[in-house]
Amino acid sequence: MPHLFSLTKKLSELKYIKPKTLEGLNAEGIYTVSDLLLYAPSRYEDRSTLRRAYQIRESGVLNTFAEVKSTSYFGPVNKRILKITLEECYIQKDENLYRPNTINLLCFNRNFMERYVHTGNRYYLFGTANRKTPSSVDLASFELHPALSAEDYGYGKILPIYPLNSLLSAKSVRNCVFKVYDEFQKDLTSPLDEDTVQKAGLMDIKQAISALHYPSSISQAEKARRTLAANELYYLIKEYGTFGGREDDDIIAHPVLNEHEKKFIASLSFKLTQAQEDALNEIISDLDADFVMKRLLQGDVGSGKTIVSLIAAYHEILKGNQVVMMVPTELLCVQHYKNALALFENTGVNTVLLKGGQSAKERNSVLSAIRDKRANLVIGTHSLSGENIEFSPSLSLAIIDEEQRFGVEQRESFLKKNSMVNILTMSATPIPRSLAELLCGKANLSTITTLPSGRQPIITHLVSPNKRNLMFDFIKNEFEKGNQAYFVAPRINSTDDARRDVYDLETELTAVFPSLPYGVIHSKVNEKDKISILEDFRTGKLKYIIATSVVEVGLDNPNATCMVIERADLFGLSTLHQLRGRVGRGNKQSFCFLVYTKNMTQEAVSRLKAMRDSTDGFALSESDANTRGMGDVFGTKQSGKSSLKFINLKTDRDLFPVIRNAVKKESSK
Ligand code: ADP
Ligand code: MG
Repeated sequence: MPHLFSLTKKLSELKYIKPKTLEGLNAEGIYTVSDLLLYAPSRYEDRSTLRRAYQIRESGVLNTFAEVKSTSYFGPVNKRILKITLEECYIQKDENLYRPNTINLLCFNRNFMERYVHTGNRYYLFGTANRKTPSSVDLASFELHPALSAEDYGYGKILPIYPLNSLLSAKSVRNCVFKVYDEFQKDLTSPLDEDTVQKAGLMDIKQAISALHYPSSISQAEKARRTLAANELYYLIKEYGTFGGREDDDIIAHPVLNEHEKKFIASLSFKLTQAQEDALNEIISDLDADFVMKRLLQGDVGSGKTIVSLIAAYHEILKGNQVVMMVPTELLCVQHYKNALALFENTGVNTVLLKGGQSAKERNSVLSAIRDKRANLVIGTHSLSGENIEFSPSLSLAIIDEEQRFGVEQRESFLKKNSMVNILTMSATPIPRSLAELLCGKANLSTITTLPSGRQPIITHLVSPNKRNLMFDFIKNEFEKGNQAYFVAPRINSTDDARRDVYDLETELTAVFPSLPYGVIHSKVNEKDKISILEDFRTGKLKYIIATSVVEVGLDNPNATCMVIERADLFGLSTLHQLRGRVGRGNKQSFCFLVYTKNMTQEAVSRLKAMRDSTDGFALSESDANTRGMGDVFGTKQSGKSSLKFINLKTDRDLFPVIRNAVKKESSK
């Protein structure tokens, strides 16, 4: 049976669609009946109720009727502009129109309208008005139609506004949708059973498609979207979901830790937060259960994921198993290795490091230790996912730190080779694909919701080019207090001088902060130097670091209180969030400065605003996934452009368990 997403009849076979419209729709990626019926309006325009001019204070939407009083021209002689003057009029007898306004339509580039308007006639008017005097408004952007055909132009309705192009008009799309819906609504089916529809508060599928395009209210349009999201989710789960892991609503009993583990936890220099303990419990329960764990440990930057994963590793090692930790950069790798060596001192855990730049002899001895299990804990870069690495058969847990930094292929190749190994991925800003896996029930989620006590939220400022000096003054002051800073530029060297690079920045900073010691780090600096620069930074010998985004993940210097990101508009949300996470790691108030340029894309503007307004990495990831769309989440297997565009990760969470149950019910029939 064809379902909602598989009405594959080509629009080109439908006689009533004009060639130009067809071409325009194709340009938007719309080829089939499904594509068109699921062509979601980008917004709705509420023309359902009158909006009179007297209701407008400064500016606002007008949805009214008026009579043409006169036409005239203004502006220089050779560039005359038509002005149509109207007077609002009553259309409903009982309407109390206490202040009829004069309305001036300024017809920029539309002088031809003079031919279509007649003094004394009544018109339906929709547009954005600005107040000029207490009794008059001006409109430069408007629609004007004869009053009698008001309904044809949406009066009394909620109008869908579709994304358009030069070949498509709002009217042609609406007509087309109307006819196609008429012909094909009988074929619309939904796999969701009545019970599920009721429980989730959804609509019947025919109603939903109708309400997507012709809603009777804005809330009905939202209900339609949610219904379509539920259908999308159904197919998503059906195609990709497995239920191997833990059920979301499972109650997890606290596992009993053995003496070694208790002693280890007691030996830490801090007390675990409740959130860390809860996450640890969930992970250990999974590790002791009889399924293969797949769990994402999400926790904001600095929330203390590392120690949780290392305790879990210890748990496995005490059972006689091997554990591997994959880390995206060599810097972070070395940091984790040193950290683990110190933590596991006197526990008998043998930790080894595998990374680029090791001598052949060194590498071989590490590899053989991994193979024959002399190594209990292996910490390494993505080279660990390579073909030539042979783990001991006792390998039982793989920890993937900063999962957003690994390519999907790297992860897949590791998983393929080690399919029976428990996987713990960690991230502050998981990639859309990981979010989608959570939705399908292919992975479980543990969240560390709180930061260790004493941490203060980072204050984020957007810095325009002319505020640079103020920012430098501020940072000077921080330096005087003994604090440190990071300065990050988008690239090492650039020919395009609008994009500041590391060396530009160095020139500028050495002039602003003469005689202060600093270090420069980027991918061309060799590993050894990088490590020693970071060590000097950590011990306070260097006041600041100038770097590319290589410092994005993991670095930990609680004394650094300022993060300056140059051309922040050129970085993605996840990178920005990670970079910001380099500060605020101790008890001091920290600051992040996002320096932007004047000519940003609209998308960059909203990204920077999102950064300023939220410090919640999970929320930032979700909003990122939503703006980019979930469409490509499942890569090549996902068919058609019309898939996965209704799900909203933020508002539809509650749908997931309900729809998962529906799929389960269906497949157990
Ligand atoms: P992330 O979650 O970003 O990976 P880390 O694991 O690197 O964070 O932890 C950040 C810092 O917080 C580290 O210096 C770590 O030792 C410290 N830390 C972790 N847990 C606690 C805690 N419960 N109390 C105090 N400090 C903690
Ligand atoms: Mg970390």
